[in-house]
Amino acid sequence: MISVEEALENILKHVDILETEHVPILDSLGQVLAEDITSATTIPPLDNTAMDGYAVRSSDTLGAGPESPRLLRVIDTVSAGLLAQNEVTPGTAVRIMTGAPIPEGADSIVRFEDTDEEQRKQTGTPITEINILCQVEPGQDIRRAGEDVRQGVTVLRKGTVIRPSEIGVMASVGRTEAAVIRRPVVAILATGNELVEIGQELAPGKIYNSNTYSVASLIRRYGGIPKILGVAPDTEAALVTRIRQGLNADILITTGGVSTGDYDIVKDILAREGEVTFWKVRMKPGKPIAFGRIKGSSQEGQTRSVPLLGLPGNPVSSMVTFEIFARPAIFKMMGKKNFTKPAVNAILEDTVVNTDGRRVYSRVIVEKRDGRYFARLTGGQGSGILTSMSLANGLAILPEDKAELKKGETARVVMLDWNEEVSN
Ligand code: AMP
Ligand code: MG
Repeated sequence: MISVEEALENILKHVDILETEHVPILDSLGQVLAEDITSATTIPPLDNTAMDGYAVRSSDTLGAGPESPRLLRVIDTVSAGLLAQNEVTPGTAVRIMTGAPIPEGADSIVRFEDTDEEQRKQTGTPITEINILCQVEPGQDIRRAGEDVRQGVTVLRKGTVIRPSEIGVMASVGRTEAAVIRRPVVAILATGNELVEIGQELAPGKIYNSNTYSVASLIRRYGGIPKILGVAPDTEAALVTRIRQGLNADILITTGGVSTGDYDIVKDILAREGEVTFWKVRMKPGKPIAFGRIKGSSQEGQTRSVPLLGLPGNPVSSMVTFEIFARPAIFKMMGKKNFTKPAVNAILEDTVVNTDGRRVYSRVIVEKRDGRYFARLTGGQGSGILTSMSLANGLAILPEDKAELKKGETARVVMLDWNEEVSN
């Protein structure tokens, strides 16, 4: 049995970063930029106002105050997107809205609230003149041309993971599309004679196929494109046929059929139709996990060798092993460099035990109280109890060389979610 680290290293060695594609910027969320993004323009293009108010010559406001107003003649009004027609000469002002370019001659902005504009509106006095009620410094409330971006500079570097702010930056420089590393297509095949598709009637002894849905949504969450191959019964012929349907994917994930039971034939097929890189990892849940490459011709007739990750069938095991092995594989294919999931040190509120020297991942509920993290078990830790994953927001790690971690001791907890994002 190999360690989690050895298994992950093996998997990462067998998956490659994918090619570049061009996508509309909005579709690139979560992908990695494959080009530098430069700006053809300066942003903002002109000096403009950060406030609604009056563009003035600051020298005209010297000594102004509520008791010593300075009366200026209003010669124009300008809103964002338009240029003022008149120059601000001594004794004059231009009414101006946020984002509008600063008129010639003006060097500062007086906000509406520092004028008698409101009073004039209430009394119906036309705003042909305005009283300035405060003194402003040159440059007051002016946003300078190029303070965000200068023409020609690189605003985003190749290799950046695209978040909403990067999409905004691309739009701000006028980009409609971006070159990114494409998303992997991840084929997912559930195996088991006992499985029934959702939407179908459950016969006695059968259960619904849930793995396809939990795993497909994990694939989506981490940026891949799930290709659902449905359920295959536990016969070699059926399995081989279905696997062939997944050979045009970038990686194939199966669930179930990798333990030592009579019908656990995934690894046998892997051995016969390709090669097994490893089988069994020193972890709990998730010991029976297989990885290798499968060779064959896809439905389109191409001969391909595709990495196959055989996850255990137990619903908790398949999700936990996905987080630990499939997520980094997807990230690597997408060109990401950082595969770590956020983790915290949490004080255990339950004792966790290790029975056989495997690394234990316990489903826990992590809470922050008085600046410290606490973790308690979700309840029964059987790997068939899928609702425990739904209750959990973290996986507490008990290292393989520790027999137990007692209540009150600190454990490393890999966060599955942050409460802020999922609580209501
Ligand atoms: P296996 O690894 O095939 O022996 O499956 C282990 C356990 O997980 C068995 O109890 C299966 O019934 C269950 N199981 C396997 N695949 C699925 C699935 N797709 N959805 C729900 N449970 C599953
Ligand atoms: Mg099975």
